[in-house]
Amino acid sequence: MRPVPKKYGLAVALILLCLAVLTPYYTGTRNGFQKAGPLLNKFAADTGLNRTSIRSQTTPPPVEPAARPQGVVHSWPGAGKMVAITFDDGPSRKFTPLYLDVLDRYGTHATFFLVGRHVQENSGLAAKIAGSGNELGCHAFEHRNLEQMDPAAAIQDITSARRLIERDSHTQVFLFRPPGGHLNQPLINLINGMGMKIVLWSIDPGDWYASPEKIINNVLTNVQPGSIILLHEDKAGTLAALPTLIKGIKQRGYQLVTVSELLASQGKQPKEAQTNHK
Ligand SMILES: [Zn+2]
Repeated sequence: MRPVPKKYGLAVALILLCLAVLTPYYTGTRNGFQKAGPLLNKFAADTGLNRTSIRSQTTPPPVEPAARPQGVVHSWPGAGKMVAITFDDGPSRKFTPLYLDVLDRYGTHATFFLVGRHVQENSGLAAKIAGSGNELGCHAFEHRNLEQMDPAAAIQDITSARRLIERDSHTQVFLFRPPGGHLNQPLINLINGMGMKIVLWSIDPGDWYASPEKIINNVLTNVQPGSIILLHEDKAGTLAALPTLIKGIKQRGYQLVTVSELLASQGKQPKEAQTNHK
């Protein structure tokens, strides 16, 4: 057997020396973590976090939108595998019956946020939408930016639209969506005080300008439990996208429901959905 060269012997000695020096340090550090265990657990219990998340947080947690106004629903994650499609700006003499036909063909329902002026110009359509099992919401009368209006005039606009929709459809309206999503906290409080739930959206595929393919891709990429999807009436592209969109959502295991059905579903109420509703 060949003798081990001297230089290898030196290397082995060096490795052993390193181990001898570092092992107590490593063990101490590990013991330190173990000793910190109960403290971490207590911190976790106090903050509602688990220890994995405490240790792995290298970036700040997402800011819970404190600036986001209260009393407004964007989505309803506690709903499980349910989502709601919503159509704004109708009714439309030309398009509403076509939208209703597609929904009927796929045995599903949606929520229509109607503009008071369009209900006035297209009498009977609100009743047709409600009569086919779909839900009605109010989308103001003149479709103006309510935030830029005198609050009394804004409330007057909403009230007259709500009354008109209720009269035309023989149903009661409890859902409201502000044109363009524009609202401020005082208006939110006033509208909640009128017994209406303010519903915005969590998915906006930009169907004002997007192609049917882009609308479909955007929604199917972003759909999540409790999503509220913003679409519009009077849009040929949206109408063209609708069958594939409905099929795609269903294929992903989601049930399509109205907004009220979504909000009535069991589960945890999300923070942003807490309302000042009396
Ligand atoms: Zn609108």
